[in-house]
Amino acid sequence: MSDGSSSNSSPSESPFERVSSQTLRAWDNAHVWHPFAPMTAFRQENVPVIARGEGFDLIDVEGHRYLDGISSLWCNVHGHNVPEINQALHQQIDMIAHSTLLGLAGEPSIRLARALIERAPSGLTKVFYSDSGATSVEVALKMAYQYFRQRRHQPEERDLFICVGNAYHGDTIGSVSVGGIDLFHRCYKHLLFETLTVPSPSAFHAPQGWTPEGWLQHCFDEAERCIRENAHRAAGFVMEPLVQGAAGILVHPHGFLKHVRNLCTQYGIPLIADEVAVGFGRTGTMFACEQEHVCPDLLCLAKGISGGYLPLAATLATDEIFDEFLGEPIEGRTFYHGHTYTGNALGCAAGLASLELMDRNEVLANVARNASLLQQRLDEIRNHPHVADVRQKGVMVGIELMRDRDRLEPFEPSRRTGHLVTLAARQRGLIIRPLGDVVVLMPAPAMPPHLVSHLCDIVFESINHATSSI
Ligand SMILES: *Cc1c(COP(=O)(O)O)cnc(C)c1O
Repeated sequence: MSDGSSSNSSPSESPFERVSSQTLRAWDNAHVWHPFAPMTAFRQENVPVIARGEGFDLIDVEGHRYLDGISSLWCNVHGHNVPEINQALHQQIDMIAHSTLLGLAGEPSIRLARALIERAPSGLTKVFYSDSGATSVEVALKMAYQYFRQRRHQPEERDLFICVGNAYHGDTIGSVSVGGIDLFHRCYKHLLFETLTVPSPSAFHAPQGWTPEGWLQHCFDEAERCIRENAHRAAGFVMEPLVQGAAGILVHPHGFLKHVRNLCTQYGIPLIADEVAVGFGRTGTMFACEQEHVCPDLLCLAKGISGGYLPLAATLATDEIFDEFLGEPIEGRTFYHGHTYTGNALGCAAGLASLELMDRNEVLANVARNASLLQQRLDEIRNHPHVADVRQKGVMVGIELMRDRDRLEPFEPSRRTGHLVTLAARQRGLIIRPLGDVVVLMPAPAMPPHLVSHLCDIVFESINHATSSI
């Protein structure tokens, strides 16, 4: 970490009138309400005020440099300030920053739709744009619901979604409804619609009295039972393929996705795959569904879609679903949904440039290298007295800390152990953000291996530091 003496915020570089970092922080505390932040504690923390990015580093207004260990909340793909993406954005902004997709078309959204369909599991042919992961899920839910209402051969009123325990699909009311993280669910439960939940197939979280194998089998069986018994009520099965991110990087056993796909096909229920976190290379393939040769009926994409540059999302659909929305305008088969900035030209230009870079720089090969490097390096921490579980898929990693790893006794929540690791890492020049006491590593898919190794060094030191005073 630099000592801050070489200030990077010279007036010629910054578009803003120069103010001290203390003033910026005071203004932040006065006016910015941060997401998912306990604001009383947050305001005392003096968080870095980020001014610039360079490669895989974030640089704050005081000139401190930090490795971005969580891809700026799981969205960055190629690093920051990437010349090729910057240039694509410069070119686009000299043409137009935004025009609406309501009643008009635009070249970047057309080209990106083609590029996405080319790479997506075959069977997906249509792209509906929105702005965030949550909206991409909302769109999928409304599409599935309306599809059943107006399908020609057997219209049905179906309003029940099946979802997975501890799922996370975003923070709008619909996406919280199909989510299963108790803390968020409980708080808003009177606002949410009813859903059915199948247990999350996570061996480590097998309830007392179950063997890991027995629990996983139970989860497969429950998915089957739930789908079979609700075959005529269910409008869709919503899931995060391969890895449940926000639940704590829970890696599903191989075959669960395929199992659900087969059951959905057998019983005529659309499979809604939320690849907001796992898409764009994070699990080792462009899309996680590829690894089990699954094509979902609806595919939700966001986070990495713009390379981590701009808010952009997409819901991809099959012709089978899309065709039920065709007809004369007067028939009212229209999909009544749209956001003002849908298909934003800058976002789509960044998305196209990001996809081209993924090909040109062979980012998936880099993910494969980093995945095996991580697997090796993580062995160093597996037997740590406070590491209860280490989970990894591709470049997504969760290290679960507990007070007593043998008895599976968690730390006191008030100790905020995961957060202490974050603070220790920040001291050492690394930005990470935990999920409770699960330390999350989410290096950008294009991060060079030596930086991934550096990330491991700092994380292991920080875990030692944060757990040493027990
Ligand atoms: C982050 C995330 C979302 C929500 O995306 P936002 O852009 O934050 O709305 C949805 N689903 C999954 C799996 C996610 O990880």
